[in-house]
This record gives sequence, C-alpha cells and structure tokens, in this order.
Amino acid sequence: MPDTPNPEQSAGKSHGRKTIKASLKPRDLMSTDAQLARAWQAQVITLFPEAFPGILGMSLTGKALKDGRWQLNTIGLRDFGEGKHRNVDDTPAGGGPGMVLRADIMGRAVETAMRRGPGPVIYMSPRGKPFTQAMARSLAKTPGATFICGRFEGLDQRVIDHYGITEVSVGDYVLTGGELAAQIVLDATVRLLPGVLGNAESTEEESFSDGLLEHPQYTRPAEWQGLPIPEVLLSGNHGAIADWRRQQSEALTQSRRPDLWKAHQERKAED
Ligand code: SAH
Repeated sequence: MPDTPNPEQSAGKSHGRKTIKASLKPRDLMSTDAQLARAWQAQVITLFPEAFPGILGMSLTGKALKDGRWQLNTIGLRDFGEGKHRNVDDTPAGGGPGMVLRADIMGRAVETAMRRGPGPVIYMSPRGKPFTQAMARSLAKTPGATFICGRFEGLDQRVIDHYGITEVSVGDYVLTGGELAAQIVLDATVRLLPGVLGNAESTEEESFSDGLLEHPQYTRPAEWQGLPIPEVLLSGNHGAIADWRRQQSEALTQSRRPDLWKAHQERKAED
C-alpha cells in the first residue's frame, strides 16, 4: 500500500513531526541542552502544524521557547491519513452533516505522541471541562502535555474513551478548530513556568490568583482627558495602596462575577 505510509516505520525521518526550538549558537549549546532536557514539553496533534507556534512565538512565550524553557513539537495528523489524499475523516455514523476525525488515524497520532512526550493527553473540545487559571497552574507543574486539535464535527468518541483523554474547553462557544484553543491553554500555562515572567510577583497578584479579579491599573500621564489617577496610588503609602487595591478587587468581583465572589466567600469561611 504505497499510499498509506506507516509513520511507525519511518520514525527516523521525523515523520509528522516538527520541533520548534531555538537555533543554537555553538558556544551556547551545552548550557542550553541542559535546559532543554528540563524544558516543559508541549506536543500538538493538528491538521495545521503551520499554525504553530503562531502567537506563542512572540513576546514572552516566544522568548521562553527560544530560551528552551519549553519545547513545542507538532504532530501533523495528515501524515497518518490514508489513501492518495491522506484522508483523516469520514461521515458520521448514524448520519448527519459534516465529517468526523477517524479513530484509527487519530489513535496512531496519539500513540506517537505518547511515545515521544510526557504528561496528560488533552482534547480541546467545547464539551470539555472549562479551562481555568487553576488548571494552568497544575499543567505548569507537569513535565508537559499533548493537545489534540479537533476539526469538522470533532473526534470519534472511542479515541477519547480508549486513552482516557481529558476534554478541555476554552469557553461556551464553538470554534472551527482546536488550534486557537490549544494556543490559549499553552499561553496561560507557559507564562507560569519558572523564569518566563520577569517579575514572579505579577502572577501572584493578577486576576484569578486569589479567586478575585484584578484591581484597575493606571500609568502616566497623571491626568488625561481631565481624568486624574486615583490619589491614593500617588501617595507613596504602600499600606493604603494595598487596601485600596484589595477593596477595588473585591467590589469588581462582586459586581461582575457573582460566581467567583461566592466561591471566594466560601473559601474564606473555611479558613
Ligand atoms: N461538533 C462539535 C464542535 C466541533 S468544532 C460540538 O458540537 O461539540 C471543531 C473543533 O474545534 C473541536 O473538535 C474542538 O477541537 C475545537 N473547538 C471548538 N470549540 C472549542 C472550545 N470552545 N474549546 C475548545 N476547543 C474547541
């Protein structure tokens, strides 16, 4: 069957795989290699490997990728497809519109990912557990993760059941594919890896870290369109500033997110 290359037999040719990492200067090689050994390993199974690293290649996440704090391997689903057109999908059993990603083809991609990298396998899915900051925090503590990006009507249920794959949603809306969703989860996770953000405190104070939304932020100019910066922020009184921020944070959470506020109150009652 010349049209159905078996990715297992051509492992040496980096079949279906692209590693995105820094190009290394020789004198940096040793230290950077040591770092790469500890790098957080992201694997992404996708029909669109060219969509990665995408926005993750920029700014802080891009620098962290170049610095070897995390590593990104894409696994192209098309490479596991069948026939002349490397088909990966078929019509839904039982009828209905659209196409479904085939279990056998995704199964081969998942097994390849499980051999190559550590950590949980996550299927990006609108039916999944809603992604939260707490999930980002626990993912950042794993050695890495594999993300399956669905397309069309999604993935044959048997793959999810057979491998015990976790489904994660980025919100109550439907995207055309899982690539943007995976990038959201990766962005939120990678920024929590040690050394990615310059100022470690900034992850402790920001929204959700204490189950509260963040207080408003201001910077120069001191007055804009007749609007001054709240006086307390210019007072130099750190205690008063912290109190003001806390009070703003609580008021905002209470009015905008009663769900978070209720959970926060319950946690406080337990302490
Ligand atoms: N028919 C499916 C939607 C398929 S959308 C359903 O109704 O549940 C195509 C793909 O986009 C999905 O397989 C999933 O990988 C991705 N996707 C769409 N919306 C998403 C969301 N809110 N969160 C995470 N992934 C999503």
